[in-house]
Amino acid sequence: MQRKQQEKEPQSSAQSVMATILQSIPKEAKVSKIDYEGPRIALYTKSPLYLMEHNEIISDLVNVIKKRIVVRTEESIRKTEEEARQMISKALPKEADLQGTFFDSAIGEVSVEVKRPWLLHNNPAFNVAQLTESCGWRLRIRKATTIQSSTIQAINYNLKVSSTERAKQLKIIGENIFRTRLAQKSEVSLLTLGGFGQVGRSCMLLATPESKILIDCGVNPGARTPMEAYPRLDWANITLDELDAIVISHAHLDHTGFLPVLCKYGYKGPIYCTEPTLPMMNLIQLDAVKVAAAQGRVALYADRDVKQIMRQTVTIPYGTVTDIAPDIKLVFSNAGHILGSATCHFHIGNGDHNFVYTGDLKFGKSILFESASWNYPRVETLLIESTYGAREDIQPTRQEVESAFINAVNNTLVDGGKVLIPIPAVGRAQEIMMVIDHYMKAGQMIEAPVFMEGMISEATAIHEAYPEYLARELRQKILETDDNPFDSEYFTNIEHSDSREEPLRDGTPCIILATSGMLEGGPVLEYFRNIAPGSKNKIIFVSYQVNGTLGRRVLDGSKQVSLMGRDGKVEVVSVNCSMIKLDGFSGHSDYNQLMSFVHKLRPKLRRVLINHGERRKCENLAMNIRRMFRVPAHYPQVQEAIRLF
Ligand SMILES: [Zn+2]
Repeated sequence: MQRKQQEKEPQSSAQSVMATILQSIPKEAKVSKIDYEGPRIALYTKSPLYLMEHNEIISDLVNVIKKRIVVRTEESIRKTEEEARQMISKALPKEADLQGTFFDSAIGEVSVEVKRPWLLHNNPAFNVAQLTESCGWRLRIRKATTIQSSTIQAINYNLKVSSTERAKQLKIIGENIFRTRLAQKSEVSLLTLGGFGQVGRSCMLLATPESKILIDCGVNPGARTPMEAYPRLDWANITLDELDAIVISHAHLDHTGFLPVLCKYGYKGPIYCTEPTLPMMNLIQLDAVKVAAAQGRVALYADRDVKQIMRQTVTIPYGTVTDIAPDIKLVFSNAGHILGSATCHFHIGNGDHNFVYTGDLKFGKSILFESASWNYPRVETLLIESTYGAREDIQPTRQEVESAFINAVNNTLVDGGKVLIPIPAVGRAQEIMMVIDHYMKAGQMIEAPVFMEGMISEATAIHEAYPEYLARELRQKILETDDNPFDSEYFTNIEHSDSREEPLRDGTPCIILATSGMLEGGPVLEYFRNIAPGSKNKIIFVSYQVNGTLGRRVLDGSKQVSLMGRDGKVEVVSVNCSMIKLDGFSGHSDYNQLMSFVHKLRPKLRRVLINHGERRKCENLAMNIRRMFRVPAHYPQVQEAIRLF
């Protein structure tokens, strides 16, 4: 960072941007300070009301300078938190039901959490601009969740205690982004550091003569040696302070598991992701530390490194063009895969090259998410995942898989049996919850209690906290009605192991969702031990079962399996229940969906690169893209340098 600041020239383009802003803002706006706030330019005012009532001033300005602008209140006009809280509580209509407030003093913003946000929109009795003017804090109205997410609370606490340090850091980030370009020549290379020709440790470096961006930073949980488990940053021959930014496509461990290690070893720069990706990845990263401890392994990083991520992350909503380096702009769009998952569009140079990285992609609608976006203004190089890239990887339609699921559940419940669904806490669990709630309410699934145990309720709370990232219908239900499916009366969360008595009681038909998804640990094992011997019961697998896991062995027909008992002794469990595996709830595109995504992109692509798939899948997808669309398609391996432009 230091290096780049010293290189700054006196007559910079940044100064001319500042001059344009000063000239365009009228006196009445009372702007007293202009400062960088990471990738944004913040205008500080003593009277936010004027700019809030004349928002065309800011939008016109953004059109001229092509940079993001935010209006902030000057610190001197901000009331104390207690005073502001009282003013807000007084101004809010009672029925909106205020649940909590969070003050972020680094940016002068207050999140106001209410049960019924719809009562505040277009409500003449509640004037946000007036309230901002009088309390001195910008209000952000948010939907309160059914249960509070402890991860989001931890992030808020961390933001609070680090607000001075963060404000300084954001300024440095801004100075770096808006530094004068030294190299006028555009050249773009991609270095593959992990997740090419394999699933796991996704990581790559996007480099121009001007900037270096690291994209994703995962681990490969299945690998046996460190050389195969972690991204090959050693091979890229870069130091952490040379990086301009790290961009994260989504929260899964194979895309974020190595990120805390970079913070541990001194990465100080910005981390960009969507807003829900931050709590989701923190939840997953902290869980990985716990799992390592439980298995007697030394974790790669500690909780404090995850806290550091919270402080360095700059979140960006879908669809917002953001400068992340002097010659690179980034736009996130919905990838349909898990909450907050994004395709990353990099606009390089003055439109010299457009590179889109899909991350993990679902090109198909689910109850939780809309299908991935595809309407980029321009793409020359597409990098697409290929988890299900082989021609035979065709999933059943949503309709088919949902009716198979309903039948499987109904047949078991009607017999008085229990249904056990081993499930990953993040994504799949919430999708299955929504399916159950939907069909029980519609009368197509027999009503029965649904018990959940593991990280599921925490992950669910995070989903509920960001309704704007969910599919339209679900979002409307949460933001505009009292009929919130996450708060359904069917669901009961099991918080402690001593509350398992109810779901396990004889003769009570019920559905149990528990982690982990492949029977490799977690509370699901306790349920498995009790449910597997009963012939009336059923286990439904809705996620991929990796070779060698207990889930796979059971699915392949093992009638007796050994488990480690609570007292440390090996216990043999007989498997007499029925079981079924359902494809089609996957968060990944199948072969047809991958192909139709490529087909949709306009104007015609110059090149397709393929990653995130076993070698055979990558190869197969590349071949079919070449054949069907007449576009050059390659599947690089790890440790390749590819010239994009
Ligand atoms: Zn993923």
